[in-house]
Order: sequence, then structure tokens, then C-alpha cells
Amino acid sequence: MHKILVFLFFYQTVQAQVIINKDVEIEKMVSEVNKDSLQSYIKNMVSFGTRNTLSTQTNPTRGIGAARNWVLQKFNSFIPNSNGRLSAFIDTTTIFPNGRRIDTATLLGNVMAVLKGTDTADKRVFIVTGHLDNMRTNVMDRMGDAPGANDDASGCAAVIECARIMSKQNFSATIIFITVSGEEQGLLGANYLAKKAKQEGWQIEAVLNNDIMGSNNSNETNIIDNTRIRVFSEGLPAYETEKKASEVRRLGLENDGKARQLARYVKEIGERYVANIEVKLIYRNDRFLRGGDHTPFVEQGFAAVRFTEMNENYTRQHQDVRIENGVEYGDLEKHIDYEYLRKNTAINLCNLANLAKAPQAPSQVTIETKKLSNNTQLNWTNKDPKNTKGFFVLLRETTSAFWEKKIFTSNSQMILPYSKDNYFFAVQAVNQNGNESLPIVPIVVGR
Ligand SMILES: [Zn+2]
Repeated sequence: MHKILVFLFFYQTVQAQVIINKDVEIEKMVSEVNKDSLQSYIKNMVSFGTRNTLSTQTNPTRGIGAARNWVLQKFNSFIPNSNGRLSAFIDTTTIFPNGRRIDTATLLGNVMAVLKGTDTADKRVFIVTGHLDNMRTNVMDRMGDAPGANDDASGCAAVIECARIMSKQNFSATIIFITVSGEEQGLLGANYLAKKAKQEGWQIEAVLNNDIMGSNNSNETNIIDNTRIRVFSEGLPAYETEKKASEVRRLGLENDGKARQLARYVKEIGERYVANIEVKLIYRNDRFLRGGDHTPFVEQGFAAVRFTEMNENYTRQHQDVRIENGVEYGDLEKHIDYEYLRKNTAINLCNLANLAKAPQAPSQVTIETKKLSNNTQLNWTNKDPKNTKGFFVLLRETTSAFWEKKIFTSNSQMILPYSKDNYFFAVQAVNQNGNESLPIVPIVVGR
């Protein structure tokens, strides 16, 4: 029941199908994702009238200040069941008028819950985000109502639900649950946090950004679909130097940046644990005319991807609630499909869990190119011997979007009967529960 067949074989032994067991703890957590919880979170967030970043911070029931305090109180309510590992706070900074979407000095607050890893030597950090702020048609309008149920109470609800369920469990690495502020005013909260993380040397290995992921239909195409979720990822990171870029071009690795690896991982693990949903990978960083909180992290060199629903409805995004020419506008709670949001939340949860339970990824992953050969030799270093059962070598055709073979070995080397000229490779570490690390693409030695 709990097993998945993956096309695997052991090189130099008999070709065989190998079974990856689903992690029963992750299965249990996935089953706990609850539609009623998600709905109560969204209704609460909508009840603050507006969550515009420039809105009141002193009114106890209206505006971004009240909304932030509510999220903090939700996170705080999970602390007693976290065995002392969860802490929550609002990380604030002051943003000054910038000639763009900030016209007065404004206190910006990201609400954060940090679930400390159980292994103090494990410095890895995994982050899940949504943005708490929202907007009316006029982004500077801080007074009128803006429900923002889908954009982005849906993403924040996913973050809170992951925190509720995961804070009761143990993970080797640290997970941070964040509802960001200032997204609509120019990705301000994410930008502040990504720069701070970079300066302070946080070892962020993945950022899952959730923005507009609870509604299932497009008014233009009349498509109703709650079986597909898009994950956007960048191929070539923006921070790459010209030297690095030319190396990437030479090796043909344009499609193998960190965000792309994370996206493929999200698809594999998400579809392993969540039924009736396809993770549709979009090989670009974001949609046209839109931005998102993953981008500041990408710009700082972290692996970050964006979850967004399959069919967006533009009569509901960034629109004052109204009826015009018979068309109803506005981002109302009644348009949320909670079964869809449940599945999309579960995809975040199983990925965070699998990442944070996995051994640390191998280091010094290299591909031997000193000699002409039709075999491929990969070498790597086991960075986490205590937790590593073995490694998966991943392989795909150069024209393929996804990894096609997943080959297990308990060694730190593999010679494959596939030419390095004709395939792409990567290596991931795996523990005895089947939790895999992110894949590491080999660097070339012996040019
Ligand atoms: Zn948004």
C-alpha cells in the first residue's frame, strides 16, 4: 500500500526494480492537512478588512497590524505541542518613502515561526512563505476593503497549516514558516529577509513561496481544474558571474540551476505523497507582469520556487469588490476551492518534511572527464555519514525535462554505462526512511 515503484537498478549487479517506501510519518502529516482549518484561517485573514501594508497598525480588529498579530497568535498556539522547538515573532524593519509604492515611513513586519532542527550540527534551513499583505485596485489605497482571500490568504493559510502539523514532529534541519509583508508594495518583506539571510550566512537550501493557490478557474477560458498546480522556477540564476555563465553554457547546464533542481524535486515528492494532483513545472521564474517573494531569494543565490494555481482569474486579483457590467470583481473567500488548497498545502508539507528529514546532500560531486570513455564516472563525498544509507544517481537525456532514472548505491562512486556526452547526472543522499536530499549536479574535473 505504501510503496512506490521507481525505475531503479544497481549497476554491476542485476537490473531490478527497487521499492521506495513512503515515509509513514510524512503520510500521516499529509493526512492531517485539514480543509476546515484552512477555511478558518482564510476567513480570519479576510475579517481584517484590509491587509494593505500601509493600512492601520493600531486598530485591534482592522488592518495589517491586527492581521500580523493574529498570525503571531496562531503560531504561538502551536508552541505548547512543539517540545520546545517552535518559537514565533514578528521581524520588523522600517521602510521609508521610496518614490514608488511607499509614501510614508512604515513599519514592515514578517511574521515568522522557527521550528528548530533536532540536530544542532545540521545548519540547513528550509522556508515556506506566503504574503499577508494585499491590495485594492489602487495599491496605495490603504482605507477601503480588500479581502485578498486567494492573493494571498491562500498561501498564508498553507504556511500556517504546515506550521500547525509539522511543529509536533521532529526534523533534523530547521524549518521556518513565514507570512511576509510588503509584497504588493514591491516585494519589500522578502527582499529584507533574503538580504539579511545572505548577510548572516543562513544555510537556506530551499524556499517554497505560495502565492495565489486556492482557486480553480479562469473566467476567460472557463477551465475549472483542481488537479494541477504550477511551480515556477528559474533556470540560470540571476547572480551568476559571466565566468560561471560561460561554464554553464559550455556544459549545457542552462536547465539545471538550483531552483530547477528544487522544482523537479517538488514534483517528484509532491506526487509521491499527494493523490490526484499534478505538479506542472513551468520553466520560467514567474508569470508576465507579475512578481513574487521567491525572486529576492533567487537574487541572493538561494534555491526558491513559486507555487501558483493553474488557471488564474484576473477579475479577482487586485480588484476592488464590485459589480461592473454584470461582472463580479473581487478576491472573495467564496471563490476558494478548499479541496484544491488542501492538496496544494499537502504538497508543500511533504516536500518540507522530506527535505528536513533527509541527510545532507553529498559534497564534492564530480564527473571524471580526464579520459575519453563511453562510461561515466561520478565521485562524491558523503557529508552526513550518520544519517546516510546511500545515494541515488539521477540520470536523464539532455532533451528531457525530468530525471528518468534513479539508481541506488551505498558507495561514493558510480561508473555508469552511459556516455557523459549524452546525459545529465546528479547525486542525492538518502536515509533509511527513503527521504532524499536535493540533487547535486557534478562539477567537472580533469578538463
Ligand atoms: Zn500575491
